[in-house]
Amino acid sequence: MNNRRVIIVGGGLAGLYTAFQLEQLSIPYVLFEAKDVFGGRIHSEQPKVNNNQSLFHDLGPTWIFPHHHRMKALVAHLNENLFHQHSAGAVVYHENTNTKPQIIENGQGPLLHRLEGGLYKLILALQAKLSKNNYQLSCQVDNLKKVNETWQVTVTNTKDASVVIHETDHLILALPPRLIHEYLTPTHWASAALTKALVAVPTWMANQVKFVATYHKPFWRENGLAGQAFSRVGPMIEIHDASAKDQQGFALFGFIGLSSQAIKSFSIEHLKAQCINQLKLLLGDEAQHYEQCYLKSWGSDVHVATDKDRTEPPAHPDFHIKRFSQELSSLNLYLAGSEFSEEDAGYLEGAIYAADKAISLLKKEVLLKNH
Ligand SMILES: Cc1cc2nc3c(=O)[nH]c(=O)nc-3n(C[C@H](O)[C@H](O)[C@H](O)COP(=O)(O)OP(=O)(O)OC[C@H]3O[C@@H](n4cnc5c(N)ncnc54)[C@H](O)[C@@H]3O)c2cc1C
Repeated sequence: MNNRRVIIVGGGLAGLYTAFQLEQLSIPYVLFEAKDVFGGRIHSEQPKVNNNQSLFHDLGPTWIFPHHHRMKALVAHLNENLFHQHSAGAVVYHENTNTKPQIIENGQGPLLHRLEGGLYKLILALQAKLSKNNYQLSCQVDNLKKVNETWQVTVTNTKDASVVIHETDHLILALPPRLIHEYLTPTHWASAALTKALVAVPTWMANQVKFVATYHKPFWRENGLAGQAFSRVGPMIEIHDASAKDQQGFALFGFIGLSSQAIKSFSIEHLKAQCINQLKLLLGDEAQHYEQCYLKSWGSDVHVATDKDRTEPPAHPDFHIKRFSQELSSLNLYLAGSEFSEEDAGYLEGAIYAADKAISLLKKEVLLKNH
């Protein structure tokens, strides 16, 4: 490998983790992220009324599942801590508008883990491990071209619209397949089969709408409820306790059962008010005394969802990356986004799995060229 830096496109969990590993391996790289912050689907809000600077409320992922060992190892390596999702208490189920919500005692789900302070802390911890010269925010990659052995990567600065073409031998794409299809011109460099697979595989949770309300006390727990509810009435179809560890901040979150297209017909304020009314009905009148509430419609985020994600029913990603091993190897192209993982595709764990695979293939290539 010559001295040209490896280029990483995308600064979500997969891209940042890849950068962190390359930094440790002393492999020169530069990472381009389209947004002005890192994290991708890991996105959190900080409470305005609470002076706790290290508390974030997750509007993207919340849970690390019991079998997510790579994530658990990363959390430990970065000196962050996990705690258990609060689930003690009764669960509420609302079948239809003609019936009252039912209380189900001892309806506990699986033991899920959460990151103390919110998942965005993981992003901050990874970012802190990178040298500032090795990444550029607000830099959207919008064209790729392969000229002989060289990748030409067109990068547009989204703040001043300036365009720079960077060159590299090895290119790591840490973003979902459909975004590669949308932004990175695969018809210039990929086979018809690879191009078709890129557009076919959905981005996990890309059309979700998530709501969070914060409270000064966990009134639902005081009423014997877990804060967990399931509803066929809506607008939220699933609600959970989203409080921080050790009484450091209380919250509830819910997934809204409407697509990003459908919610366009409501104002955000109207939708937030409907969610609060639903919390009142299911968990108690105190729900109206919230401190802050936040709503994120992921389908409207152009760096997460494409038109297909907005219009197709949600489905688990299944890319079968092995089918394309030869083609990717001949291109010196590495696919590190979670949707490319052979295990837990679409999840946080999948992002680490796919990134680890990409790094190990890159390392092999580096050793091969150096000997
Ligand atoms: C609402 C929601 C809830 C979820 N819940 C869970 C959960 O509880 N547990 C779990 O394990 N997983 C969950 N997930 C999935 C989890 O968030 C993802 O698996 C993980 O964040 C994917 O990371 P990634 O780096 O592969 O992709 P992304 O986070 O999508 O990162 C891709 C990055 O590429 C950037 N980018 C896009 N286009 C360009 C371009 N042209 N140029 C440069 N940069 C670009 C984006 O801005 C982004 O930063 C959830 C997701 C959502 C949305």
